[in-house]
Amino acid sequence: ALSRSSPQKHAMKQQAKPLILAVGSGKGGVGKSTLSVGLAIALRKLGLRIGILDADIYGPSLPKLLGVESERSRYEDSKLKPVMVDDLPTLSIGYMIEPEQAVMWRGPMLVRALKKMLLEADWGNIEILIIDLPPGTGDVQLTLAQNAQLTGAVIVSTPQDIALADARKAISLFDRIEVPVLGIIENMSGFECPHCGKISDIFGHGGAEREAEKRSVPFLGSIPLDQELMAAADVGEMISRINSERTGASPITAVARNL
Ligand code: ADP
Repeated sequence: ALSRSSPQKHAMKQQAKPLILAVGSGKGGVGKSTLSVGLAIALRKLGLRIGILDADIYGPSLPKLLGVESERSRYEDSKLKPVMVDDLPTLSIGYMIEPEQAVMWRGPMLVRALKKMLLEADWGNIEILIIDLPPGTGDVQLTLAQNAQLTGAVIVSTPQDIALADARKAISLFDRIEVPVLGIIENMSGFECPHCGKISDIFGHGGAEREAEKRSVPFLGSIPLDQELMAAADVGEMISRINSERTGASPITAVARNL
């Protein structure tokens, strides 16, 4: 879907504003943040200029995923400067609070923080801004709907019924706020045993694809449970991990190509 308005084609060359791609899920813990970062790195590997905004105000995970928890964002010429990680501009509430600090804000403060990152930041000449949404259908989603022209949304789900039920709610929300759903990704889809090579469908298999078909939205692909990806995410080494994957062999790059 992105390729229809691909920045590599004509439109973006004259257009100053980036396409804005929201990555959402109904439920937490399904791998939305991991895949937001993974997709950003994979799209960059495909030659696009990308930025990432972590809109998970209460549970920011971007600084940890990128291994830059001690970085702090700052203002320059009254613009919020994204933290550059390997030339990738990134913003997160995690750069504004201490790592162990809990964010205890009511709605209006949350909305203010989000608007700052969205509207007062100097994102440079990026072509696509990837927004990692918090799970659910609350203040953040509504603020974005009112303040950002979202190009489209990608929904991450595991194959489990319970995750898919919530993914359905996320799709309804985007329908309601008239943001096109560009597709569904099935994460944690099967696990290949490193010892015997047998595939185990720990959380089931194919549920997200069937759901996509039912809802007439594109299915963007499956990402298996991957111990190395999890380990790289845990120690903030996702960039080098995805950069070192052979493009043809990487499920995340395959999903990025399908966008
Ligand atoms: P969410 O943003 O949906 O809450 P996260 O991206 O934080 O979820 O992922 C939850 C946990 O699952 C993290 O520990 C992450 O490393 C792990 N994880 C996500 N996707 C995979 C995967 N495909 N294989 C293995 N671990 C994964």
